[in-house]
Amino acid sequence: MMGCIFCKIVQKQIPAKIVYEDEKVLAFEDSTPQAPVHILIIPKEHIPTVNDINESHKEILSALFAVAKKIAEENNIAQRGYRLVMNTNAEAGQSVFHIHLHILGGRHMAWPPG
Ligand code: 5GP
Ligand code: ZN
Repeated sequence: MMGCIFCKIVQKQIPAKIVYEDEKVLAFEDSTPQAPVHILIIPKEHIPTVNDINESHKEILSALFAVAKKIAEENNIAQRGYRLVMNTNAEAGQSVFHIHLHILGGRHMAWPPG
């Protein structure tokens, strides 16, 4: 998708600290980390928001969670705990309209979120 910053990261047009890649999924460090571990897991396919998900995306969604689990294990937060977040639209604070699963960990997480 033209003008999408995460599509540009997928296409290696702008740099990112990539921690995982396969044919469908990319994971990279958030540029403004909110926790000691803060990685974004994205489908390579451009899907703007959760509202745009359909039946054809089942496999990719399951892949995002499989990668989250692997990253949690690699960063030693699987047992301590971590948070997965996918913000949708304005009130939730979505700022990049290419779906991304935030994995946050390495510190205590408050609830409810702000
Ligand atoms: P959202 O607010 O849409 O849920 O999350 C967008 C996230 O993308 C933010 O945490 C922000 O720091 C991160 N981000 C925005 N632009 C870039 C970028 O160019 N590179 C990286 N690595 N992260 C980005
Ligand atoms: Zn995109």
